[in-house]
Amino acid sequence: MRRLVVVGGALAGHRAAVQARRLDPELDITVLAAEDELPYQRPPLSKGYLLGTVSAQRVRLRGGGEGYRLLPHTPALGLDLGKSLVFTADQVHPFDLLVVATGAEPRQLEGFPPDQSVRYLRTLTDATRLKEALNSIGHLTVIGGGFIGAEVAISARSQGVQVTIVEQSPHLFSRVVGRGVSRIVEDNLRKLGVQLLLNSTTHLELAGKQPIVSDGTQTWTTDLVVVGVGVNPCTAWLNGTLPLAEDQGIHVDAMGLVTGFEQIGAAGDVASWDHPLYGRSIRFEHFEVATNQALHTAQALVANRRVAYDELPFGWSDQGDLLLQVIGVPDPTLIEEEEEVEDGKIFLYRRDDHLEGAVLVNAPEELTKLRDKIMASLRNR
Ligand SMILES: Cc1cc2nc3c(=O)[nH]c(=O)nc-3n(C[C@H](O)[C@H](O)[C@H](O)COP(=O)(O)OP(=O)(O)OC[C@H]3O[C@@H](n4cnc5c(N)ncnc54)[C@H](O)[C@@H]3O)c2cc1C
Repeated sequence: MRRLVVVGGALAGHRAAVQARRLDPELDITVLAAEDELPYQRPPLSKGYLLGTVSAQRVRLRGGGEGYRLLPHTPALGLDLGKSLVFTADQVHPFDLLVVATGAEPRQLEGFPPDQSVRYLRTLTDATRLKEALNSIGHLTVIGGGFIGAEVAISARSQGVQVTIVEQSPHLFSRVVGRGVSRIVEDNLRKLGVQLLLNSTTHLELAGKQPIVSDGTQTWTTDLVVVGVGVNPCTAWLNGTLPLAEDQGIHVDAMGLVTGFEQIGAAGDVASWDHPLYGRSIRFEHFEVATNQALHTAQALVANRRVAYDELPFGWSDQGDLLLQVIGVPDPTLIEEEEEVEDGKIFLYRRDDHLEGAVLVNAPEELTKLRDKIMASLRNR
């Protein structure tokens, strides 16, 4: 009987295991999970779950732990490629096929070690602790003006908490979108009463129950600091055994297989995949990508069905009344064009004459059309 080991028991790991089971009812499937939870989804953790409108039960992925052997609280600690073994604390797991789906973890900001007053948000446990804290604080400082920071700020504001966002770039979301989109996001946050300190770096003057934060020009006391300054793919346990792309994700081909290893694939936030239409490797940390990549990777490994994953990256963010949808790769260094549509706006990102990505602001009905346009533009390059 063939043995599949999946490392990582969240979205991509769960989806890969379920797809593998569908493709091969006889396959022996073991999922090694660092967390002590059934598989769950993260998007509600900075939104509905913090607000109390989405319960812990609804955060769980349907069928989590069914059809495969789930070993919670069992992080993989090493990989022996020669012998096809994965090591955990007190066991060795032989495999014929391996999927790496270890995701990503929050980047730690120097001078802001996690403690009672400094939080990072990734897991259900982090979100539960943050939710409890938001009930009893008056002021929150969010460091980092990205998707998660902005979503946490809005969730806190709607519970009456005063919020300051500190961002070192001159505008928010600067790594992913252009000025037009960021201006809308900033206006929306200000309208909701969030204070924005842009072009600003902070340090923690005093950790503890009532932290004191300073950005060099002003100093303020706050009740809690949430740091959201990006994530790093979880690859340390591999100890250099698998090749990494420039963005530090595990480098996989368009089928989801690790370059040079026919029996190993990767999917989700940890994977950097060769995108056939962009002609480069891309690591896109979003829900839909993790889901679809996992299906492709499982299919290539288990059924030897080699289909290139050439879908456009897609992600979304809820910012109160603003729904942002990102399709393709809207690199902020590209030319940004703004268009009004019926109820919202779209922003197109071009390299020379070619459309590479778009951001939709409250314009979900434009998504299919834009997806087709970007696909066509990339194919005609
Ligand atoms: C708060 C939050 C809000 C988000 N909101 C949105 C949104 O609105 N829209 C959107 O498109 N995307 C959103 N995302 C992103 C989306 O959730 C991720 O892209 C998705 O979770 C990636 O899934 P994954 O399985 O690849 O990685 P992860 O979800 O990170 O799961 C990886 C799992 O592997 C485990 N692991 C790590 N190392 C090991 C090891 N050595 N051994 C065993 N297990 C290990 C981890 O503990 C984790 O459980 C959000 C993410 C967060 C954190």
